[in-house]
Amino acid sequence: MHDPVAGGVMPTLAGAAVGTGLAALVAGSAWRAGSLSRSGAMAALVIGSLAMTAGRGWGLFLVVWFVTASVASRVGRHTKETATGDVVAKGGRRDAAQVVANGGVFALCALSNFAFDTPALALAGAAALVAAGADTLATETGTLWRGQPWSLRTFAPVPSGTSGAVSLAGTVGMTAGAVLLALSAAVCGLIDPSDVTVVALAGVAGAVADTVIGAFWQLRRWCPACQRETEQAVHRCGKPTQAWRGVPWLNNDVVNFVCTVTGAVLVAGVRIVS
Ligand SMILES: [Zn+2]
Repeated sequence: MHDPVAGGVMPTLAGAAVGTGLAALVAGSAWRAGSLSRSGAMAALVIGSLAMTAGRGWGLFLVVWFVTASVASRVGRHTKETATGDVVAKGGRRDAAQVVANGGVFALCALSNFAFDTPALALAGAAALVAAGADTLATETGTLWRGQPWSLRTFAPVPSGTSGAVSLAGTVGMTAGAVLLALSAAVCGLIDPSDVTVVALAGVAGAVADTVIGAFWQLRRWCPACQRETEQAVHRCGKPTQAWRGVPWLNNDVVNFVCTVTGAVLVAGVRIVS
């Protein structure tokens, strides 16, 4: 595999084959472990192959990110499912839409890296994953530590797992997650150590954008049977829910995608300006 810092190098056939094999190994294990659905594993295979072929730094950081996110969602799973079962759109296995929402921008940067020789792509790709990871860690720590979350829109207390909700534990998890992931991007060799701060900040900004959009514009549904707000299309009581407020196409996956775009665009912007 070529040096990721060099960029703009077309991969060799052998490099692509090894990369795809490694990605298949990781995606397959995640599917067997129950972290990914079948469609999620297929999407992860595509994203993983691109990253592994793009270079060592890209592939390593994707694996570190994926392990971090999987471990974070598995720790205290039972406690968290009890806390959020009424509200969150999808639990457990991640499907293709969720995988693309989190890793699509990173994959696009990895793909562009074959054609363009610029470190800005690695920065943007790293920031996209750091933003997605910071957002995931905010939700996981906030839910696990059971601090009382409150809505950014109404300032009223809301159930754990509600989009656009903020808690002290979640904020700590988000910030710590962004810093740790930005550091690992440097350790993996994807970004320069001098860029850790800007990538961490862009990641936090992406996760904050996710929360703000989640609070004000994300689609909310209503279960007429339970008289409760939810993000599930079919509530866990079994009744189909109705669109209630928010932008109809702005579901959780779209908001997550916007979170990663925000991180990537911010860090690329800073790189171009400075
Ligand atoms: Zn219900």
